[in-house]
This record gives sequence, structure tokens and C-alpha cells, in this order.
Amino acid sequence: MGNAFLEHHESWKAQHSENSFGFTMLKASVGIIQFRVLDQTPTSRILHFKSVGNRPVICPGEGCIFCDRGDEKTTQHYLNVVDRADDKVKVLVYSAAASNEIARLIQEIAKSSNSAEFNHPTKYDIRLERTGTGKKDTRYDATATKKAFSPDAYTVFDINSKLVPMSVEEQKKNQGKRDTPSASISGRGLQSWKGDPPSQSVAAPEVKTVIEDDDKGDI
Ligand SMILES: [Zn+2]
Repeated sequence: MGNAFLEHHESWKAQHSENSFGFTMLKASVGIIQFRVLDQTPTSRILHFKSVGNRPVICPGEGCIFCDRGDEKTTQHYLNVVDRADDKVKVLVYSAAASNEIARLIQEIAKSSNSAEFNHPTKYDIRLERTGTGKKDTRYDATATKKAFSPDAYTVFDINSKLVPMSVEEQKKNQGKRDTPSASISGRGLQSWKGDPPSQSVAAPEVKTVIEDDDKGDI
């Protein structure tokens, strides 16, 4: 007997996993993902997640109004990969911390194998395990696995052309649209408990963890 609830959940997720930039994402969520890298190098961007409401903005760099006024910014890296869980091409969206761990593994393998065969992560699978969700307790552990692979069987996303920075002109139009504290995520999250306060044995929603998550892949 199937579970109709979970079947709906899974099929909805499968059909709506594309983000606003038009590629299917693979996030380094808590747990283990295994993937094969398809790109020679990652694509990297700096994003402002809180500058224009809930809309993530790709930083244009020089002349950025949001940088100038001291807004929070987050580095994100993007890689075409094959998700070994379902054999589909996705864009792995990952943080600076995950990137450090992946780079550490690549360096380790290149050194220990001492051969051109394993000098690049297109030559082996990476298993990335994540524990924790907050800025302080998130840990990544990457290991390599040999597995048969035919890269020609996959078509990659054109990541670079989809991740277009917001122009300074457009920033000017949007610079007044910053969330006020009352309209922030935490405000809404806590609001939902109004009228039906949690009993003492129920933990309050961990709004802070959601905000501090350094792996903000929902773009
Ligand atoms: Zn900026």
C-alpha cells in the first residue's frame, strides 16, 4: 500500500524543483548527496537575500547600491552535476563552507593518486554529507567514490547566462523595497502561533536557524 500523502509530496517536489532561474537544483541539505561533476569550473556569484523583499538579487559588483549601504551578502557556487539519486542533471548550489570542503577533497585525491586520471572531480563521484543547519554548527564532509560514468549522456544547464546580476538602474528602482522588521520571516513565523500559543512542552519555531542557514539555495 502506498502512502498518498507522501506520493503527492514527492511528485509535487519533482515537478516544481526548478528555481526562478530555470534550472533544477540540488542542494546540500542535511544528509548525504552523491553526484558527478560535469563542469570544469564552478560558476560563482554574490547574492543579496534581504535587499529586495524575499527576492534574491545577484550582486553586480562595482557600483552595487546594496553593497554600498552595507547589506548582507552571501557567496554561492553553482555546478552542473548528475544527481546519483535519480540520474538527472541538476545544478548543485552550495555555500563557501561546502566549497572549502569540496576543494579539500579534490586536493587530497589529486595528491594521493598522483596521476592525471583523478586530477579533477569529473573523474569520480563526490559524496557530500552535511550535518547541522546553522552558521555555527553546519559541517560538511566530502568523500570520493569511483563509479562508471558516461558524461556524453547528459546535457548541462547554461548556468552563466541564467545568473544575471541586477543592473544598478534596476537596483535604484528597488532600493526602497527592503523588508521592515515587522514584515520579516521571523515576524510571519511567529505570527502563525497567534491565537493558539504553543504549550510549554512544544519548542517555539526555530526562526533564527532558518535565517542563519548559510546554504540559501532557494533562488
Ligand atoms: Zn552588492
